[in-house]
Amino acid sequence: MADAIKDLTASLPESQKIYQRNARVLAQEIVGTVFIPYPFYVREAKGARVTDVDGKEYIDLTMGFGPLLLGHSPDIVIEAATEAARTGLHMGLPTPYQGELAELVVDATPCAEKAIFCNSGTEATMYAMRVSRAYTGKDKVALFEGSYHGSHDYVLTEADKSSERLAPHIRSRGSGVPQATLDQLLLLPYRSDAAFDLIRQHKDELAAVIVEPVQSSNPRTDVGPFLRELSDVCRECDVLMILDEIITGFRFGYGGAQEYFNVTPDLITYGKIIGGGIPIGAVAGPSELMSLFHFTGDEDADPKGAIFSGGTFGGNPMAMRVGAAVLKHLRGHPEIYEHLSSQSQRLGKEINDFLETEGIAARLMQAESMFQLVFQKEPVESAWDVDDSTWQTGANFYARLHVNGVIVPGIHLFFLSAAHTSEDVDTIIEAFKRTFAETR
Ligand code: PMP
Repeated sequence: MADAIKDLTASLPESQKIYQRNARVLAQEIVGTVFIPYPFYVREAKGARVTDVDGKEYIDLTMGFGPLLLGHSPDIVIEAATEAARTGLHMGLPTPYQGELAELVVDATPCAEKAIFCNSGTEATMYAMRVSRAYTGKDKVALFEGSYHGSHDYVLTEADKSSERLAPHIRSRGSGVPQATLDQLLLLPYRSDAAFDLIRQHKDELAAVIVEPVQSSNPRTDVGPFLRELSDVCRECDVLMILDEIITGFRFGYGGAQEYFNVTPDLITYGKIIGGGIPIGAVAGPSELMSLFHFTGDEDADPKGAIFSGGTFGGNPMAMRVGAAVLKHLRGHPEIYEHLSSQSQRLGKEINDFLETEGIAARLMQAESMFQLVFQKEPVESAWDVDDSTWQTGANFYARLHVNGVIVPGIHLFFLSAAHTSEDVDTIIEAFKRTFAETR
């Protein structure tokens, strides 16, 4: 199967050239773990398709790691981005555009009265954790094994699988994260009552629990009862619940995972879709919590516990205007979600039916339009169950899928967008089936 990787390397000469040039000066392309194991560079993208530097066109399932719910460069995004470029790309001064996006985000978020914007999901989770500590006067934050909340020190963690599954030991992902930071975190077992016991046990030192409504490492929709119980336990323990909707926000429907699972957190983090493809992050919540973002350094004027946030590109007009255009479009066109949902269900069902019929030891895990294939027969209850040794099988499978015209990024998490037509979904299903047949 590794032949697919060799063949691809040979068949993409322009990509090969760029790889050699980049490797001299670039320490990393995009994200380390999202490495594609052969040189592959994309020149342009439109709708559901990308074209590589060798002129080959593919159906894309990367969708920018999630922001591109409407596909690559839809007209409304081009218009808003062009207008922003024409009238001032970046100000460092307040503009009317932030307020418009904040209104849209707050209106779509029942638990929120106010929002702040930043430039990435990583910043959003960092601020949400900081404001939780400031509000509660407690230092620790709990997070779940198998989660991903960005790349700042306080979330760059994973479970040490040699420890007890129901009391997992925390370790950093990669080096450079101080032990002192890890000491301020509590790792919880995912989808287990043992997590609730741990929260109760540590409630006096826990400021917040941060949770993805659906883990990208383990996309599934049977998590509603777990999320609602988590919310109850957090309330009982005076621990804030931060729902990290950076992927699911405006993807699981306009009301995101909160509406989808009927869960009410204390704080929400957003990113991805709300910027329409321009870098963004946001934190939203009730005024009582969000008022702590009002920090001027003037002890008399600031609320007690105000936190520092913001930076050079905070509230940048391009992201605000493009994001607002996308959200207004989504709000006005509920049929987009109907299309996305029905096509996503069909994609999941047809591939899983095929795997079952053919007796192939793999399964497509799915939560609406987010997908992850697992190459094992054993059911996955949490990321703990994923057999890490199947990673290479996945890499080889996706290389072969690439040859068959469909791109899944190195992270192996993939997304359908509203720009994927029913015919595109047929093509994707056929490509997956052919790839399974070729690689089994
Ligand atoms: N939280 C979640 C749930 C995410 O999926 C991601 C990114 N994939 C982040 C936070 C971090 O966002 P960003 O990559 O924009 O920093």
